[in-house]
Amino acid sequence: MTEPTPEELTIQLQEQMQKWWGYAEFRSLQADSMLRVMQSKDSLTVLPTGGGKSLCYQVPAVARAGLAVVVSPLISLMKDQVDSLRSLGVIAGCINSSQEYEEKREVTQQIRSGRLKLLYISPERLVQPRTLEFLQQQQVSFVAVDEAHCISQWGHQFRPEYRQLSTLREHLPDISVHAYTATATEQVREDIVTQLGLREAAILVGPFDRPNLLYRVERRAEAIEQIRSVLARHRDESGIIYCISRKNVEAISQKLNHLGHRTRPYHAGLSDEQRRQTQEDFAEERVPIIVATVAFGMGIDKSNVRFVIHAGMPGSLENYQQESGRAGRDGLDAECTLLYSPGDAETWRFLTQDPDYPEVSAAAEQSLRAMQRYCTAVRCRHAQLVEHFGQQLEGAECSSCDICLREVEELDDSVIVAQKILSSVVRQGQRFGVAYTAQVLRGSGGKRILENRHHELSTWGLLRQEPETDVRNWIEQLITQKMLRQTGEYRCLELTQDGWQLLREGGAVTLMRERRQQAAEEHTTRQWDGIDRDLFNELRGLRSRLAAQRNLPPYVIFSDATLRAVAQQRPTTPEQLRGITGIGEKKLEQFGAALLYEVDRWNRQIRPD
Ligand code: ADP
Repeated sequence: MTEPTPEELTIQLQEQMQKWWGYAEFRSLQADSMLRVMQSKDSLTVLPTGGGKSLCYQVPAVARAGLAVVVSPLISLMKDQVDSLRSLGVIAGCINSSQEYEEKREVTQQIRSGRLKLLYISPERLVQPRTLEFLQQQQVSFVAVDEAHCISQWGHQFRPEYRQLSTLREHLPDISVHAYTATATEQVREDIVTQLGLREAAILVGPFDRPNLLYRVERRAEAIEQIRSVLARHRDESGIIYCISRKNVEAISQKLNHLGHRTRPYHAGLSDEQRRQTQEDFAEERVPIIVATVAFGMGIDKSNVRFVIHAGMPGSLENYQQESGRAGRDGLDAECTLLYSPGDAETWRFLTQDPDYPEVSAAAEQSLRAMQRYCTAVRCRHAQLVEHFGQQLEGAECSSCDICLREVEELDDSVIVAQKILSSVVRQGQRFGVAYTAQVLRGSGGKRILENRHHELSTWGLLRQEPETDVRNWIEQLITQKMLRQTGEYRCLELTQDGWQLLREGGAVTLMRERRQQAAEEHTTRQWDGIDRDLFNELRGLRSRLAAQRNLPPYVIFSDATLRAVAQQRPTTPEQLRGITGIGEKKLEQFGAALLYEVDRWNRQIRPD
């Protein structure tokens, strides 16, 4: 028999993906990656979080004869994936320490009878002699190692158990091994290839850009108010707020709850049970917002996280990419806002600098500098992020970051405005703070200003036309750019040497104007163009009910992308439903009637035309 050609294999994969997942098109790199598995050629696939790595081994697992073994680091991850696959009608199972004997027996039987297509298992269990011996007697199609960076001590999530996987090759010599990760550094990639003993492995690196994520960086002023303005655009939607410390987690969660939002704190100081419960409540949409330290993250496969806010700057762009990447895995628009203050870098230095480990400290400092540059540079955020990972963005502008959306704009006359501010600070005797200086410049007739006779200064009212928040922002920006500094108990403004030079001789300075709220709202409205939002909400309700009956997270039933497509196209026949992304055969059979009923009810009641 002749081997099938790559084209034939690709068609086969496409048919399977359409049949079971209801997806018509491959995402970037998926077809290449799947093809390696079909051809039993070792491979390493690098795609960002949400890039669609799971499908890269799941579709071939279904398309090939035999059992695919998937190594996964966390029970919660395994469970989530198995639930999702089962809901598609794919026979998948896992073996882990939290299972009852009955459940394990059933999975073992399914393997023996050759029915199981995917087996999820932890690395430590896989390398047990008993397990390997058992698998040697089965028809194993290939081994997939998920979250493969856990094998590298250069990675940020090193798990010593992964190291034992190096013995796999001895026991399953003829079976191809395929690794998957979102970690982009060269060193980690090389480590994965060596440690797993991959043979002539194809290293497939996908595009790191996530065009559906809208990146913003704001200088942190009134953190709670800034957070609330993001929340206002995401009523009832899921999101994560990351903080640097546990103390901040507790404080922010409490304040938001007090203001009527529904949030839950999550950090390493809580018990295992509390954390497990919180994670589950988030996945099953009983709690929309989690306020967390970085302890929250791995194992969150929830695809419809609509926003991620960083209330403090992360320690590196790698971390930022990973944490913000938890938003919008379903490919729909999601918002990533970073609230930054120069003091955040000091907090990180305090946490990471250790004279006993100069190399580690130097690496941490380098990461921190890159992160700070991202926060302060006036350049497309998408471009900055992908360049950090050694790629180039296609096109000059992304249209989904604060810079390209012109939410922050450089003033034409930055130097003149800066000189007005610096001049006022000098004329006020360098004895007043930010708010007072802004008031003088805006020509306020406040009591203190009159008492100090500062309404007689030549700088009084020079920026009368400008909104107060802008003037205050510019003063803050001059502090960040080290033209001004704050001193003493009252944080009085004082000129630095650079500040004096700018005032006397001019020079280089950039001041930005923000029009965030308005731009952000315009952007949100555009996302819903042509989609009946009320119908979408009805469908969400239906999804929650179906999920609760089956004890599954709602996103396992349908993704937001599917519900939005239904709300846009309002299908009336099973055939029309079949054409919608995410509706495969099993979903059509199980939930098609319920969806059509809901749409029909909507059409009759709300739209009687
Ligand atoms: P990763 O493991 O890389 O973080 P996932 O495999 O979880 O990403 O995929 C993220 C989301 O995208 C999932 O909801 C998945 O079903 C969906 N997805 C993956 N591939 C496709 C595709 N080709 N078309 C449509 N949706 C896809």
